[in-house]
Amino acid sequence: MSEPTKHQPPAILLVEDSRFFGTIVRDRLVSEIGAQVSWARSRGEALELLSNRQEPFFMAVLDLNLPDAPDGEIVDDLLDRGIPPVVLTASMSDTTRDVIWSKRVVDYVLKEGPHAIDSVVDTARRLASNPGIKVLVVDDSVIARAQLRLLLEVHHYHVLEAQDAGRGLEQLEQHPDVKLTLVDYHMPGMNGAEFIKQIRKTHRREDLAIIGVSTHGSGHLSARFLKSGANDFLYKPFVTEEFYCRVVENIRSLEHLRRLEDMATRDFLTGLHNRRYFFDTGRKLCDNALRRNLDVAVAMLDIDHFKRINDTYGHDAGDVVLAEVARTIGGRFRRSDVVARLGGEEFAVLTTNMEQEAAEGIFDEVRGGVQALRVQVGEATIPVTVSCGVSCGPAAELEALLNHADSLLYQAKNGGRNRVVCAPTPEEDA
Ligand code: GH3
Ligand code: MG
Ligand code: MG
Repeated sequence: MSEPTKHQPPAILLVEDSRFFGTIVRDRLVSEIGAQVSWARSRGEALELLSNRQEPFFMAVLDLNLPDAPDGEIVDDLLDRGIPPVVLTASMSDTTRDVIWSKRVVDYVLKEGPHAIDSVVDTARRLASNPGIKVLVVDDSVIARAQLRLLLEVHHYHVLEAQDAGRGLEQLEQHPDVKLTLVDYHMPGMNGAEFIKQIRKTHRREDLAIIGVSTHGSGHLSARFLKSGANDFLYKPFVTEEFYCRVVENIRSLEHLRRLEDMATRDFLTGLHNRRYFFDTGRKLCDNALRRNLDVAVAMLDIDHFKRINDTYGHDAGDVVLAEVARTIGGRFRRSDVVARLGGEEFAVLTTNMEQEAAEGIFDEVRGGVQALRVQVGEATIPVTVSCGVSCGPAAELEALLNHADSLLYQAKNGGRNRVVCAPTPEEDA
């Protein structure tokens, strides 16, 4: 199995004898997820394609009933080569359903109207993004873990395992970006509910979804899971559709919350954090640095003569310049730093644990990076520079540091623009 990267479009094999259906599926996979689609009209053509190809396919979309493979033989052809298939079928009896799931396909789609194609495209899109999603399985049973891992890996999730709560907590510490955890109830040491309570001390349900998994008929475990902070639960044995549905719904709801959070804390034009986020998070970082006697650097950056850029090239071109400058500034800092657009053409950066000399160097690099930009809008190449004031040294209140940085920015502007003025932070009691 190959996993697509950001730069590499997912390679999808489509096996479908209907010209009508095949054309629509191919066109939508190409236009909506940028997939690279190879289309075979029969099992024979598919096998030929597979034997001539070096690069593995990321997934396949298969018609279950092909003229030269009426009983879904093509599914095995692909599974043998480690390519997970989405199966298209005109009808689904219970027997076909059992056969399909026993074969570890990604999903099946009934060819019933336009919704079927939406569902294929949606599944392909999800699969292409799943390698970036970490799922942790915590269960003391080797067999149970292997079962869940297999189901998750068919969907290309990045799967981690732990055999008890202690190791589960270790995994979460090592992988703070785990999105979903599946937790068994009965485990030696700490049970699933206690384990979830531990997790919830450090992980919000908005950032990490937890699904409790327990055997049917074992009392009120679902309630215990949910009361302990699980987002959802699942009784064993489960049907495969239900499993995938719960997993996808929980991840979807995290993504939804993330989008809402981004809308509230990010600037739409540049994607940087907004003013509100800068003050909310900045105050906390400054307080923390103050308590721990750490150095901070607070910088204000402002685009030089931006009004002229708007007047000369138009407001839309101005927006492009803003976005490019924002990208240049944002690209230079760590995730733990706060980079924000405060408003208009004014940006602020807060970094902790940085000494004056280092800060001066970094902000001058940012200045140089902006000067080196060649912002291309239509025929025009727009030159752009920024001025920057940096207050750095022992932490103080954010407002005081920002005022100081603003006065240093004013000096940079008066000194001729396209420059950085850096000075030690004001004394706490000054
Ligand atoms: P200085 O070098 O002294 O900073 O001069 P300046 O022209 O950059 O500063 P001034 O504050 O006079 O002008 C800023 C301009 O930025 C005015 C305003 O119309 C423009 N502006 C503010 N927000 C946006 C925006 O979102 N998009 C665009 N295109 N322009 C914006
Ligand atoms: Mg300006
Ligand atoms: Mg201004």
